[in-house]
Amino acid sequence: MSNYKHILLAVDFSEHSKEVVLKAKELADYYQAELSLIHVVDSVPLVDIGYETAMPFDYDLNEIFMNSAKAKLQELARDLELSFKESWLELGSPKTEIVRIATENAVDLIVVGSHGRHGLGLLLGSTANAVLHHAPCDVLAVRLKDD
Ligand code: AMP
Repeated sequence: MSNYKHILLAVDFSEHSKEVVLKAKELADYYQAELSLIHVVDSVPLVDIGYETAMPFDYDLNEIFMNSAKAKLQELARDLELSFKESWLELGSPKTEIVRIATENAVDLIVVGSHGRHGLGLLLGSTANAVLHHAPCDVLAVRLKDD
């Protein structure tokens, strides 16, 4: 049986993310594994070829979202009694960043929700699906149901 040593919890702060957090915490306790967190802020393009400049250049939405995400991640780390050093806050594509951080940090289990902010319509959300396909390690998709 696998004995996981480093579990990476990918959290999107969606309505159902608490269930994913609880499952990751349970697994980390069971395996006595290190638990790390990751949240990725989807980068907002300031310029779109179709619309030319979409935002005034002094208005940095990425920075606003990063600051707000940092506060949420710090709060979650505190709730889980983790040091904030064990958290990654990245800017870019969630699927790419989750796989990159897992690869670079000897993660042996990634925990994601089956769905996140993109609705419960599909069997598996697009981030969960991409992580499952590209991860260097096991992936647990916590089945989230609409209730
Ligand atoms: P999705 O496939 O986008 O519906 O999301 C499925 C799961 O992927 C979520 O429950 C999270 O565990 C993870 N996830 C999605 N977006 C992010 C994000 N921006 N940062 C970290 N994890 C994410």
